[in-house]
Amino acid sequence: MKKLYADVIVDISHERLDRPFVYRVPELLREEIREGSAVKVPFGRSGRVIGGYVVAFHDRCELEDEKVRDIAEVAAGAETAEARMVALAAWMSRQYGSTMIQAMKTVIPVRKTYQAEVRKTVVPAEREKTDEYLALCEKKNWKARKRVITVLADHQEMSLQTLMSEANVTLPVIRELEKAGILRITAFSDFRHLIADADNETCPPDVLTKEQEEAKNQILREWEGDDRPVLLHGVTGSGKTSVYLELVAQTLACGRQAIVLIPEIALTRQTVIRFVRRFGGRVSFMHSRLSGGERYDQMKAAKAGQISVMVGPRSALFVPFSNLGLIIIDEEHEETYHSEMVPRYHARETAIKRAELEGAHVVLGSATPSLITADRAESGAYRKVMLTSRYGESELPETEIVDMREELQSGNRSMISGLLRMRMEEALAEHRQVMLFLNRRGYVGCITCRSCGHVIRCPHCDVSLTRHRNGKLICHYCGYETDDVNKCPSCGSPYIGGISVGTEQIEELLRKEFPQAGVLRMDADTTKGREGHGAILGQFSEGEADILVGTQMIVKGHDFPNVTLVGVLLADLSLSDDDYRSSERTYELIAQAVGRAGRGKYRGRAVVQTYQPEHYAIVAGCRQNYEEFYREEMIYRSVMEYPPCGCMAAILGSAKDEGLLAVAMHYIRKYIERIDPGNRMRTIGPAPQAVGKIRDYYRQVIYIRNRERELLVAAKDRIMEYIALNPGFKDVRVQFDFNV
Ligand code: ADP
Ligand code: ZN
Ligand code: ZN
Repeated sequence: MKKLYADVIVDISHERLDRPFVYRVPELLREEIREGSAVKVPFGRSGRVIGGYVVAFHDRCELEDEKVRDIAEVAAGAETAEARMVALAAWMSRQYGSTMIQAMKTVIPVRKTYQAEVRKTVVPAEREKTDEYLALCEKKNWKARKRVITVLADHQEMSLQTLMSEANVTLPVIRELEKAGILRITAFSDFRHLIADADNETCPPDVLTKEQEEAKNQILREWEGDDRPVLLHGVTGSGKTSVYLELVAQTLACGRQAIVLIPEIALTRQTVIRFVRRFGGRVSFMHSRLSGGERYDQMKAAKAGQISVMVGPRSALFVPFSNLGLIIIDEEHEETYHSEMVPRYHARETAIKRAELEGAHVVLGSATPSLITADRAESGAYRKVMLTSRYGESELPETEIVDMREELQSGNRSMISGLLRMRMEEALAEHRQVMLFLNRRGYVGCITCRSCGHVIRCPHCDVSLTRHRNGKLICHYCGYETDDVNKCPSCGSPYIGGISVGTEQIEELLRKEFPQAGVLRMDADTTKGREGHGAILGQFSEGEADILVGTQMIVKGHDFPNVTLVGVLLADLSLSDDDYRSSERTYELIAQAVGRAGRGKYRGRAVVQTYQPEHYAIVAGCRQNYEEFYREEMIYRSVMEYPPCGCMAAILGSAKDEGLLAVAMHYIRKYIERIDPGNRMRTIGPAPQAVGKIRDYYRQVIYIRNRERELLVAAKDRIMEYIALNPGFKDVRVQFDFNV
């Protein structure tokens, strides 16, 4: 394709980003111009020259020729923060498969016409100050201001909107009061009170332990030398956060900024306080409940240099710091770092790319690294730094495994084994707290024998089959299908079927069996509200309940010193996920769950209940022995050529018309065979996706695998071209999803 015309996004801080404008590329500029190039173009009726970025090229143009103007110039070496972000977007769009616009929208915050003030809250000043001012209002007869103060008097904090309507005033009145210091308007309501709390705590920064100090120094030395991404592999409770704080401090001391990505669920009061105590007003927090406007304001503050540390989930990766020095990704194994929106980028890979573009360092932290990261650390692509002991006196908990098959044989059909019950009674008698963890993944349909633990698997793929409503058992990797069973094919037991227990049933059971104990439940249902998980965790940490029951969300990064017992109720549920990573997830969940126990002065215990007590992921998870798990798992991955021993991409198709989708996916498969005649990319499918239909859209998938990621990316490019040229795909949506 000749670069005759270019789509240019102009003035990228505004909603104009939604639409590119077409310009002609003058002959002279065709050599040097690229996707992502910063250009100058005439704009609007006046034709004033403004900046923009090239996002695509065409060799034709639908507009009449005289309506299309020329690009004025290509900005040479435009090393602005924005240019680098556009370069990052260009990289993402190619690596993950999206249009340039989609990638730009992911990377650059867009100012839309948000109802800007709606989400803001108002906090009153101290009593005395307000009383003084109220007297002044009396004297001057400022009625509106008086009303505001009266309404606000009974509140610690109030939404701006409510305040305005209850006091019946307009925004300027409130602004006047803000100027007078009588109230504060804040956009980040969820954390403001925490920040105030933290300001009041005058603890000195953590003094690093010897091991933490050594880890920090190893990392600093790596930065001086090869500057590879660092894997900070530290057991649960080893104090990775303390090390992060030092690294961030070091970065700020060099006049650079830092981004700390943490899973949203771990953005708790404890975390916020630790950062604020250390960095005061220079740190800001992001979370998904921010409105678009608030997010935009944060980005603006970062760009203007008002903040230097941003802590937040995946999307915080794109904060436009002008001199980014460090990106930390805590709990790097978390699946939430993989975006589910096109471009389906992986935050780890994208962080490494951004760091490369900007000369920043990358630190990945985890107690249970993803196999991908562990493998790269093993091969020397990453630098591995270890923290092997827990902070303080606390030791790793003593873990006992209960074979639930034996429980069944001995007549106990309850979800709680004899041993777990005994340990719970002990802990409660000592006034300690208990966490019970139900790994509910795979709950929907995996077929397990309750007598022998047998799981029904696909004969071709080594993944478990899933029961569909039509009564068939189906493999989501290859489409293999067989009839449902009512007897275990391995031992003949009739106790086979989809396991269906939820946290709610367990809560009920506990109330019956431990009537004196206070029970809290935390799962997707109980955390829907705005306060969400924060409130429940707060209650538990204040000691308002003795037992916390929950799904995997309770295992993430919380620190409850009074918890001495963790029970994992059905450790193997995640083993039967229809996914090659099921063992990895199982190991991770067990190790993280067990790691919650005994973080305070009291020794912790864990009880892990399972139908497969000899499975290596469970055995190693209970011991928190990552090495052992890693070695076993890598054998399986290399035999099967699953990642990290190869790269994998899913081609996800969806359409309202089932037949049309089937034909389209069939043609993609045929096309792949054409461009890859030797089947170098191992191609599997099309097959139904794990969920075969969502909101009336049918979904299918084709997997392609190869050792070389680039081969898959190149295939993706060709498939996208093929789809764009072929009208048969008009009503079929095709997306790509790379495993990293
Ligand atoms: P990890 O993230 O590695 O699981 P954390 O950073 O949450 O561990 O640390 C576990 C606990 O130990 C936290 O309560 C933390 O405050 C405490 N801690 C760790 N290192 C230090 C230190 N050097 N000084 C004081 N407290 C520490
Ligand atoms: Zn059986
Ligand atoms: Zn299969």
